[in-house]
This record gives sequence, C-alpha cells and structure tokens, in this order.
Amino acid sequence: MSARILIVDDLAPNIHLLEVKLQAEYYDVVTARSGEEALEIAGKEKLDLILMDAMMPGMNGFEACEKLKQNPDTWHIPVIMVTALEETKDRIAGLEAGADDFITKPIDDFNLMARVRSLLRLKMVTDQLLSHTGHTSENSRPLLEKISQRAGKILLIEDQDLRADKISKPLSKTHKVIVEGEPVKGLKMAASGVDLIIVSLVSQSFDGLRVCASIRFNESTRDIPILIVADPEDDARLVRAYDIGINDSLMRPIEKQEMHARVNTLLRRKFYADSLRENFNENLEMVVSDPLTGLGNRRYFERSIKPFFSDLEDNDLPFSIMVFDIDHFKRVNDILGHDMGDQILKEIAARLATNMRAVDVVSRYGGEEFMIAMPKTNEADALMAADRVRSLIAGTPVFVDGQALRITTSAGVAQVQKGEQLRDVFKRADDALYKAKHGGRNQVVPASYKEAA
Ligand code: GH3
Ligand code: MG
Ligand code: MG
Repeated sequence: MSARILIVDDLAPNIHLLEVKLQAEYYDVVTARSGEEALEIAGKEKLDLILMDAMMPGMNGFEACEKLKQNPDTWHIPVIMVTALEETKDRIAGLEAGADDFITKPIDDFNLMARVRSLLRLKMVTDQLLSHTGHTSENSRPLLEKISQRAGKILLIEDQDLRADKISKPLSKTHKVIVEGEPVKGLKMAASGVDLIIVSLVSQSFDGLRVCASIRFNESTRDIPILIVADPEDDARLVRAYDIGINDSLMRPIEKQEMHARVNTLLRRKFYADSLRENFNENLEMVVSDPLTGLGNRRYFERSIKPFFSDLEDNDLPFSIMVFDIDHFKRVNDILGHDMGDQILKEIAARLATNMRAVDVVSRYGGEEFMIAMPKTNEADALMAADRVRSLIAGTPVFVDGQALRITTSAGVAQVQKGEQLRDVFKRADDALYKAKHGGRNQVVPASYKEAA
C-alpha cells in the first residue's frame, strides 16, 4: 500500500512534472487543478500528503490550505506549499495558513523527496496514534495539539560560534537549545536524552558524517531524529548522510521560517512516537523493526520489496534475494551463552547492513537468518555481493566481552523469475543455503547451481 499524494496546481505541465517524479518513487498520485477541487478531493479520498501550489486563480493555495487545516476531517494531512521564487512573504503566509513545509520552484528533486518522505513519516505516526486511541481525527485533535506544542530539547553540534548563533537564537524562543562544539561531549549529552540533534555536516574540527554514524550506531541515541545543516556544495556528502539515516536537512544560508518548519515536523514526529510508546508500550518502528538488531523484520521486508516485483513484471528489471544464516550458531549459544549470542547477532546484522547498498533491503527474517533483496541486480552480481560480505564477516573477528571470535555465515542467492511469488524464490534461496551448509559452510551458493550428476 503506497502513500497517496495530491498535487494541486492550475498549470497542467507543473502537475505533470511532479506526477512523474512522485510516480517514479512508487507514490500513488491524485491531481487537482484548483483550490476548490483540492478541497473536494480531500473531502472524499484518503490522502497522506498534499503538494499545494501557492499561486492559483480563484481560491489560492494559502486559502485552500487554511480551509483544510480548519476542517476536522482533513487538518492532520500534511501540506507542502509550493511557492514561486524565494519569497519570504509567501512562506510566512504559508505558515499562517498552517502549511507544514515549503518548497520553491524550480523544484529540486532531492529536496522534494526529502520533504515528502519526512512528512509521510509524520503522517504515518499521526495515523498510528489516531488508530491507537481509537478516536476520530476530530476528537484527538486536542491531544495531538498538546503534544505538538511541547517545547523540545535540542542539541546542536557545531564548533563555530557565529553559525551556532544563527540556529540557536531563533530556536531558543520556543525550545531549549544546547550548543556543543565537541562531538564526543555532544554524544554523551545525546545519550542522556534529547529530542532532536542538529549537526553541521562540514566543520572545522569534526566530520559531521562520522558524528551521525555514531549517533545511529549507539543504542541509546539510535532513535533520536537528526537534522543536518549543509552548504549547497556539500551535495554528495548529503546523499551519504541520508544513507546513514539522518532525517532531514537544511541548507545555508538558513532561512528562519524553513528551519522552524523542519524542526517542528521532526519534533512532532518524535513526540507522537514517544507518546505511542508510553501509552501503548509499542511504537510504529516496532511493528516493522526488530528490537535486537534495529534491522527491519519480515513484515518490513515483504512490504519493501513489493516495488521490485512490479519493476520486474512491468519493466523487466531483474532483482535478487539472498538468505544469510550464521554457521553453528547453536554451538555459539551453548558455549558462550544466549546473551553473547545476542551480541554476535547484532554485530553480524550491523556488518550486513553497512556493507550493502543503500537501495538494498536488509532484514532480520527469523532468529539468526537475514534476508536481503537487491534491486536491479541479477544472480551473478548478487552472488558476488553476497560473497564479498561473507568474506568480510569471516575475515574480521567479532569482539564480544573482550574476546575475539571468528564467526562465519553461509548464504543462498536467487534471482527472482517473472511470475514467481516471494515464497517460491525464498524456497529456492533456502535450498541453495542448505547446499552451502552441506558443502562445508562459510560459502555462498546460487540457486541456479546444479550439482554434477
Ligand atoms: P547451521 O550452521 O547449520 O546453521 O547451524 P546452527 O547451529 O546455526 O543451526 P540452526 O540454524 O538450526 O540453529 C539456530 C540457532 O540460533 C538456534 C537458536 O538457539 C539460535 N537463535 C535463534 N534466534 C536467536 C536469538 O535471538 N538470540 C540468540 N542468542 N540465539 C538465537
Ligand atoms: Mg538457522
Ligand atoms: Mg545457523
């Protein structure tokens, strides 16, 4: 089930441009040519996000946004206002109308997708919260508004005073902001509990990417949202930052309204998720992620690879899956104990996750079994990737409790055939894995492999 996005613009070419971009990311797109039509559609269809052109004849985008935000049935749908030029005036009008974010024309793809993903995640948490409370969107509004208005504790990791001031001064009006120039101290502070971390991507004394990676790897800070501040020329590093798992980014020169919008979205999401966790002892992540390793679970895997199946059917794009299983893991547990076994599982999961591409879907499918899907990859290439990871795991000892252990894995690899279901290809990959175990472990076997007669 993909997210449903409404594009509102009076000009057909503008609509088309956005439609193509969003459909390429597998979003479900609905379109409207005026503010009036947008309200009509929002009134009868379930929408997850609205991209609203500001300037339209008749009811303009600001009015339409205001009406949506006043309507108890539609107020919780995030709205991104699309404004021409870099008009501060428009942004303020948008904020007053209740818009959740802004994007300026000409639309930059990377920026657009980052905004879309960020707000869709917010919508998911809102929906989850609504369904958990069993309330309609109308009577949960006071609850959600109360959470949204909470002040956040924000940690800013930045070593240049002038830059830090530009961020901390405006934010301090509504939130508690702590500035830290030294990442090591910052990480300690983060672990003691903050709601948002803002990191400068490039600094004089530290590497922002490394800081973000540490935040994501450390169990006590893993779930804290990260907002990166970057310069336009840091593009390539920003892509890496998203791979590491940052949540949003902001470009210098920083625009205050934009910063407030981004910070508020991230904080709201964090508070909604906290509230879910507190009230129901579970949160959205838990539904799809495995608490021990932080990887996605089986449900996440099955959901995430749906687009690969459509790409295979519709566009003949190959994709492959691999199943990794730890060798003699029972023995490891018996000798070292279950807790040490858990530590090893975590380490193996981290190695798998960090050594696959960002587009690959890595999951903990079962106890000590990991399933990975590689889009746009045939069996021969998947086999090479799997063997590279296998040898990395076998070649570097796993350290637990000061002991260096040699852990090996075996894997089965299969390219998905047209018309095949997940369970069919899983069976083939699993059979290949069985052969790998039989053949002596610490090896990768392709499903196409035929034993000599
Ligand atoms: P093989 O090389 O054939 O895979 O041998 P194996 O011992 O790994 O065999 P098998 O796959 O049957 O055993 C899996 C073991 O993994 C059994 C179970 O105790 C252990 N295991 C499964 N889930 C967990 C977990 O979450 N934590 C720990 N510590 N162990 C687990
Ligand atoms: Mg097993
Ligand atoms: Mg095993």
